[in-house]
Amino acid sequence: MTIPSDLEISRASIPAQLTDVGRELGLDEHLLEPYGRHVAKVSLSAMDELADRPRGKYVVVSAITPTPLGEGKTTTTVGLGQALRQRGHRAAIAIRQPSMGPTFGIKGGAAGGGYSQVVPMEALNLHLTGDMHAVTAAHNMLAAMVDNHIHHGNALGIDPARITWRRVMDVNDRELRNIVTGLGARVDGTPRQAGFDITAASEVMAVLALATSLADLRRRLGRIVVGYDTDGQPVNAEQLQAAGAMAVLLREALKPNLMQTVENAPVFVHAGPFGNIAHGNSSIVADRIALRCADIVVTEAGFGADMGAERFFNIKCRASGLVPDAAVLVATVRALKAHSGRYKVVAGKDLPDGMVAESPEDVLTGADNLRKQIDNLRVHGVSPVVAINAFPTDHASEHDAIRRVAEEAGAHVAVTKHFSDGGKGALDLADAVAAATREPSRFEMLYDDGDDLRTKIETIATKVYGASDVTYQPAASRALDEYTRLGFGNLPVCIAKTHLSLSSDPALLGAPTGWTLPVREVRASVGAGFVYAICGDMRTMPGLGSHPAAERIDLDENGEVVGLS
Ligand code: ADP
Ligand code: MG
Repeated sequence: MTIPSDLEISRASIPAQLTDVGRELGLDEHLLEPYGRHVAKVSLSAMDELADRPRGKYVVVSAITPTPLGEGKTTTTVGLGQALRQRGHRAAIAIRQPSMGPTFGIKGGAAGGGYSQVVPMEALNLHLTGDMHAVTAAHNMLAAMVDNHIHHGNALGIDPARITWRRVMDVNDRELRNIVTGLGARVDGTPRQAGFDITAASEVMAVLALATSLADLRRRLGRIVVGYDTDGQPVNAEQLQAAGAMAVLLREALKPNLMQTVENAPVFVHAGPFGNIAHGNSSIVADRIALRCADIVVTEAGFGADMGAERFFNIKCRASGLVPDAAVLVATVRALKAHSGRYKVVAGKDLPDGMVAESPEDVLTGADNLRKQIDNLRVHGVSPVVAINAFPTDHASEHDAIRRVAEEAGAHVAVTKHFSDGGKGALDLADAVAAATREPSRFEMLYDDGDDLRTKIETIATKVYGASDVTYQPAASRALDEYTRLGFGNLPVCIAKTHLSLSSDPALLGAPTGWTLPVREVRASVGAGFVYAICGDMRTMPGLGSHPAAERIDLDENGEVVGLS
């Protein structure tokens, strides 16, 4: 059976009226603000109006350490939501808004895939309701106010050499990583070295995702540190009197976007923080509303369980106070074969020779990664459910191998065929997840707010990544001491490392032990509310490849988008 392309499936689907999608969730029409026919923003008053309703079960979807191709978290999140709905649950799905940089770069769309996707996929992938642009505007206004403050006498004494606030744009453009601003005459500003990050990497995006209300958004924006004065004291957006105007620009963006899947299941799409240097999870506001609307909310956390789920638990749940009831771990035959070390999977290329031949042995050789990622959920006291995301090239013996490993580790497990069959392909997974949510939650954070920053980093490194040790470059050590002195030591930490290995070295597959996590640099996102430790090279402005997806994306003779896969 050949499955039509994502775009064809999306086009052929028959969307329900959004008022009907809302009604299914008990979201009355007065709480929906339509943006065209296929997307509506959900009014923030829903948080108060629905506060008396019982809270639904909270399920996070994560994965084993993926190949560069991605192992299907978004498709599984969507397919599971559809299957739960088919089983009669009132289910809601919550995902991030894709960044347009990667959409036109290598990734193509990020709406799920096959018969488990959010529609219309063009709307999801391109602009949506303009939240990304609002984040860009708020971020860059603060940047303009920093330079303007210096231009007009610098009353706060900002040290131009210690401005940490850069500019952002939602495009992959390596030319903008390092630039000089303020060239020209004296009236044109003060020249200084500056640069752009991609909008998803903006701290404003992380603030949008972690804010629990409009007032909390406003407070967090005020706490954003833009740089340091000549005495080494931090200068924040409140001191620059910029936070109010930023909140005004973000007022609409804080409202979650309601969409639907190909099967008309409700989806909240909201915020898109970078998984590299931020927590990489969709918004708290969307989850809070969804949990009052549904018996069960399924949300995706970026990257593997060591990163996405760890940050979901220790950063997002810490900020929201919400408690997860189960965690899904997406596993694929191809990723476990890759963890055997016998094959090298490269983005944009076909799978290597021999990789699709039947080999449960290869799967078992790579299975330590699965075991470790199951442990990474369990260490937080959350019930793991392994979702074996079936590909057409898989063999039953390989699924059995994964099932055995998962069962031996005490996890629930189900093979899922939501990509080819939609919700009905994920009914077993839905039942396994529903069973896991009925178990009592023993959720616990990995560390306490009061632990010092080094302890937090070392706890994640040793307990989740499997490192035996952590080393700090002198600059990282100095920053940790300084942040502690400045009172930022109570923040949670977000470790920026490769997502392609449990370690900080993408070449180390499986579940490596006996290695050292090297912390090169430490920075603080005080507004968003975390300190992040950078291990290895971490780009905050991607570049385009030799043949970006943008070369294939076009309009056809009817003005329809083509090439967005
Ligand atoms: P993630 O969210 O983990 O990055 P996605 O759900 O976006 O992963 O899936 C990654 C890619 O793999 C997408 O192109 C998706 O369409 C494809 N994909 C996922 N699951 C399957 C499957 N079971 N069969 C075929 N293709 C799949
Ligand atoms: Mg995804």
